Amino acid sequence: MDTTEFRRRGKEMVDLIADYLENIEQRTVYPDVEPGYLRSLIPEEAPEEPDTYEDVVKDIERVIMPGVTHWHSPYFYAYFPTANSFPAMLADMLSGAIGCIGFSWGTASEATLVALLAARCRAVRMILASDPQRPETGITSKLVAYSSDQAHCSVERAGMIAGVRMKKIPTEQSDKYAVQGETLRRMIQEDKAAGLIPFYFCATLGTTPSCAFDHITELGPICNAEKIWMHIDAAYAGSSFICPEFRPLLNGIEFADSFNFNAHKWLLVNFDCSTMWVKKRSDLIGAFEMDPLYLKHDHQESGRYFCTDNSLFRSLKMWFVFRIYGLKGLQDYIRKHVELAKEFESLVRADQRFEISADVVLGLVCFRLKGSNEVNETLLKRINNGRKIHLVPCLLSGQFVLRFALCARTTESRHIREAWQLITQLAEEVMQELPH
Ligand code: PLP
Repeated sequence: MDTTEFRRRGKEMVDLIADYLENIEQRTVYPDVEPGYLRSLIPEEAPEEPDTYEDVVKDIERVIMPGVTHWHSPYFYAYFPTANSFPAMLADMLSGAIGCIGFSWGTASEATLVALLAARCRAVRMILASDPQRPETGITSKLVAYSSDQAHCSVERAGMIAGVRMKKIPTEQSDKYAVQGETLRRMIQEDKAAGLIPFYFCATLGTTPSCAFDHITELGPICNAEKIWMHIDAAYAGSSFICPEFRPLLNGIEFADSFNFNAHKWLLVNFDCSTMWVKKRSDLIGAFEMDPLYLKHDHQESGRYFCTDNSLFRSLKMWFVFRIYGLKGLQDYIRKHVELAKEFESLVRADQRFEISADVVLGLVCFRLKGSNEVNETLLKRINNGRKIHLVPCLLSGQFVLRFALCARTTESRHIREAWQLITQLAEEVMQELPH
């Protein structure tokens, strides 16, 4: 493809993308194919001779689209949002053209792991400073990290990768699924009495199951007093802190050693774009210092460990989005999702057959039919089998709960009402068929 053809194809691709997004709600949100469907649609081997561009484009509808879950359909209410905006797509094209290596962190899961590894290094160094004869393996085998039982699974996995114990702190419905200071304090004391070394706590602001907020104003001082690294995972909720009315959810941030949120979830910056702040740069530099000659340059001391500084890929997208939407545009977008979540919540509350399972703080509504888990599992299966809307579940206090997450940039009130009508229709059928 030469420059002349690239100009033409690029314009066609923009049209294709615009048509796809403009008409996305006419597509089935969840694919109706079985794993392996692609096998019969594509050749066994890569082509010996080049295909034409037209052939490739034709295969987008024939081969690719049948297997796609349309995350940007206004009928997609599963997981959490993954951002999508035109300025970010344009910036992605430009990043692709500039094509430098970002040397940067990736996602929220990596931020949790990076913070954990830095905390492990800091803890070992602190102990060795006061007890230089102690063998390092004897220290690491005693380390203990904590996170909420509501934390994202990547936190537990970070513990596995780092080879340290990760204890889950129990939460209660009566405490809105937030970690309580008293519970953490008790676990720390018990573990210290058993000869363990508490060194890391991952707090979550906006948990994946129910968007709960750990009490960091209480938890932070405990961690600081015990020299425990407090990392804050605000992967989803972090974007909302650009609105002053949600800022109080961030109270206690001053106690954190590190903080992360995903602009690629709820800030209209396409995947991937995750930002991480660290209170003390030297804690990270100390843990991950690598100094090969081929990476040396004159400015290597200037902010190397901050996520967005030299990651052109990600920061360019942010820069386009921030400038083109402006703070006001981004705040409006977040507020609209929260309003739509409130609208859905009122529909649920107005129907006596249903209950709300957790406080609706941002753009996530956890709800269920009053009754057995079986009835709710069947309802969710019917909803997703219908392929008109897509939701995923969570387990709260042993109860099977449906999560309705505002995800798409284009979701409007009419989509919410349509989704609710469908849910209640299916609920009616399920309740007639099953004891509840
Ligand atoms: N933390 C929380 C609270 C999440 O909800 C998620 C994903 O939904 C993650 C971490 C993982 O994010 P990532 O895919 O960027 O690693």
